[in-house]
Amino acid sequence: MAAALEVTELVTGYGEVQILWGVSLRLEPGRLTALVGSNGAGKTTLLRAATGLLPAWRGSVVFAGHDVTRLPAHARAAEGLALVPEGRQLFADMTVLENLELGAFSRRAQPGLRRNLERVFEMFPRLADRRGQKAGTLSGGEQQMVAVARGLMAEPKVLMLDELSLGLSPRLVLDLFESLRRLKAEGLTMLLVEQNVAMAMAVSDYAYVLAEGRVHLEGEASELARKEEVRRAYLGL
Ligand code: ATP
Repeated sequence: MAAALEVTELVTGYGEVQILWGVSLRLEPGRLTALVGSNGAGKTTLLRAATGLLPAWRGSVVFAGHDVTRLPAHARAAEGLALVPEGRQLFADMTVLENLELGAFSRRAQPGLRRNLERVFEMFPRLADRRGQKAGTLSGGEQQMVAVARGLMAEPKVLMLDELSLGLSPRLVLDLFESLRRLKAEGLTMLLVEQNVAMAMAVSDYAYVLAEGRVHLEGEASELARKEEVRRAYLGL
């Protein structure tokens, strides 16, 4: 089967500093893939290069069968490649509803705006109650829900999530991961970057371990989680 997203031998960095040294990664349609690794391994950099926020120096990004390596970020987004960035990046002075509507800016997402709003409000009822509230006044967990919901409003073919659990209470993390399970059951292809490796492995089908800008290990998440090396280095066991 064709990959939903295929990154091949990607090389990139910032200015003169090379961060990724030939990273290859494949997202199978309908599967949840985890990308883990220590701080500074290059996980966010990979998401930024895949979505077009950072240019690739070498290598390619193929999305839904099209080579998008040279396409700008907005064009990739318009084709259905969505990123929920680390730190949420909401418009603080705009309401929950306005933030969500902005997620549906693209031509492909506009027709489904009402239906998708109902869908995300059903998934995150707390947001429905607070739709008129300014995003900047929400709790951290609620803001994270808005960020995920905004990503879904784009009706993505592939959703990438960067550090979903950062700074959230264990209860909220469980709730958000439950939402991911549900989205997976609905057939959405996702790439999850996570510090919480145990949770990421538990919810994912396949996983990549990135170290110093290279894929260090990859495999079925359940198998990787059993590996002695992974357990010691990333699961604290
Ligand atoms: P973390 O889990 O800490 O976010 P990460 O695996 O996502 O780590 P990246 O954020 O991709 O790592 O960072 C990889 C390297 O790139 C780090 O050494 C970081 O300092 C560097 N880096 C990130 N952004 C920039 C930037 N805008 N300019 C220069 N260097 C950067």
